[in-house]
Amino acid sequence: MRRRTLFLALVLTVSLRVHVGAQAPVTYRISFPEPEHRFAQVEVTFAEVGSAPLEVRMSRSSPGRYALHEFARNVFDVQASDGNGKPLAIDRPDAHQWTVPRHDGTVRMRYRVHGDQVDGTFLAVDATHAHLNMPATLMWARGHEDRPARITFERPAGRNWIVATQLHPTDDPFTYTAANLQYLMDSPVEFSNLTLKTFTVRIPGGAATSASLEANEARIRLALHHNGTDREAQELATDIAKLAREAGAIFGEFPSFDVGHYTVLADYLPYAAGDGMEHRNSTVVSASGALSNAVQRESMLGTIAHEFFHSWNVERIRPRSLEPFNFDQANISGELWLAEGVTSYYQNLLMRRTGLTSLEDTVAEFAHTIDVVTRSPGRSLRSPVDMSRLAPFVDAARWSDRTNWDNLYISYYTWGAALGLGLDLSLRELTRGRVTLDDYMRVLWRAHGRPPARAEGLVAAPYTLRDARLLLGEISGDQAFADQFFDRFIEGREVVDYAALLERAGLVLRKRNPGRAWLGDVRLSFSGASTRIAEPVPVGSPLYRAGLDRDDEILALDGEAISSSSQLEAVLQRHRPGDEVAVIFARRDGRVKGSVTLEEDPRIEIVPAERTGRPLTAAERTFRDAWLTSRHN
Ligand SMILES: [Zn+2]
Repeated sequence: MRRRTLFLALVLTVSLRVHVGAQAPVTYRISFPEPEHRFAQVEVTFAEVGSAPLEVRMSRSSPGRYALHEFARNVFDVQASDGNGKPLAIDRPDAHQWTVPRHDGTVRMRYRVHGDQVDGTFLAVDATHAHLNMPATLMWARGHEDRPARITFERPAGRNWIVATQLHPTDDPFTYTAANLQYLMDSPVEFSNLTLKTFTVRIPGGAATSASLEANEARIRLALHHNGTDREAQELATDIAKLAREAGAIFGEFPSFDVGHYTVLADYLPYAAGDGMEHRNSTVVSASGALSNAVQRESMLGTIAHEFFHSWNVERIRPRSLEPFNFDQANISGELWLAEGVTSYYQNLLMRRTGLTSLEDTVAEFAHTIDVVTRSPGRSLRSPVDMSRLAPFVDAARWSDRTNWDNLYISYYTWGAALGLGLDLSLRELTRGRVTLDDYMRVLWRAHGRPPARAEGLVAAPYTLRDARLLLGEISGDQAFADQFFDRFIEGREVVDYAALLERAGLVLRKRNPGRAWLGDVRLSFSGASTRIAEPVPVGSPLYRAGLDRDDEILALDGEAISSSSQLEAVLQRHRPGDEVAVIFARRDGRVKGSVTLEEDPRIEIVPAERTGRPLTAAERTFRDAWLTSRHN
């Protein structure tokens, strides 16, 4: 009994020594000895780690991405040594871990990691740059997540690359620090011959609501890697400033960026994948297009608007379900309709309010969103909250089996954007324009986003679904309205009456092709004489009711062989909704003779009233302007 106590006391002393005082930082050295061969060489040193086996891990997930990416896949040539350079044995207890059972308190891991994917999730190394997402690149040690990190980038010989990142700078332009693993993993790096534009954005009307003057200002840096001109970079910076100012006006202040500035890491390269990934003080945006192409440029700006809005909504106004981020698992959240979907709604609003997109494009986006949500079969199965929780299966997830997502799922981006629109218009209607979604975002910000974090990379007051519900009651002054909206549209599966709400803004929601016969939104592949159904048939559509599904071959429709979309179109043209048309098709159980009952094309469009042959009323103009024009003029 006594001996046992003594033993415990000893253990306590040892563990106290490990925890008292500043912990030795984890130091990383990253080099690119042959960048053209697309790998990084990483050396990481864990010092003063005691004597227990050291569990070194690669992350399975990355903040802001919800599927598992199993970053250990790309790691190779792993070696461990101790403080004296003596090689150490490594155990492999699972696919993501390298355990070093015996060492002298210092463990140095050396490994290489392949990366050839320019986006917001993975690692890319080539002759033009190193583009690093940290979970795809860095090993870390279990139990040492709270230690600071120090990271040095070695510039490849003969290259004039510079580093752009939200990591904290030091006197050495190639060495940066992070307070802990959460912040380190949240800090992507672009290391290239990039173009850097720095500018300050101010919100004119913000002073009244802000505690400090600085909150009305944001320092923003554009770190651009592209094949275009400096003038394009400058013009992009100008438009980012417009978007940032418009976003700031919604909240009345900018977040207090941990490093004093916000960085847009933009890679617009023919070999980049289209992506946008938010972080606390930066974003990675990538696209294969070029700024010289106006259509591509508009889409790039939309992505930047989205990601910058995230510096409030999700990075600081953060669901409790995502806090802190777990690098060993897929992270699920029932609030992505708000974190992502409402951000998508604001992406459209910001683009419209700054005049960077047209009214036509804005309402076309709204129409698409409403159309998808209203008509998707998945709505009969799951609410926006349920859909949010499916993110690990759909957010850049890859599977090898054939799935039926078109029928089972609605993106929380799309449904959330529709909810943002529906809630904004409902609030404006309820309060006669006194309260809007902007006000709701502001109260979310004040209650959950603004309180300072206890540690870098963490959020002090993350919200729950219930918090979001109660704050809606508070800002609308009508808890019954808030409860009903959450019960019916967010935790339920009903759809807001968009037509009536849009009418207030002089926007007419109507059928796109009234009176036109329709078979269902079915993807057909035409090859020679055969017409095959290429994807699952939407549940409830005319073809579904007729018993057709994926892989079935349509041999004849209305007595005719169909071998092109124009032939199919001709058949539909000569019929009316309600007509019953003969169909012969080959299914796995043989040849089937049946019939399909055509319906009216249900797809909708939104048209400004003034384009429908009647003038816009003064009240409609006022409503529309208060909603869709700049907030700071
Ligand atoms: Zn997003």
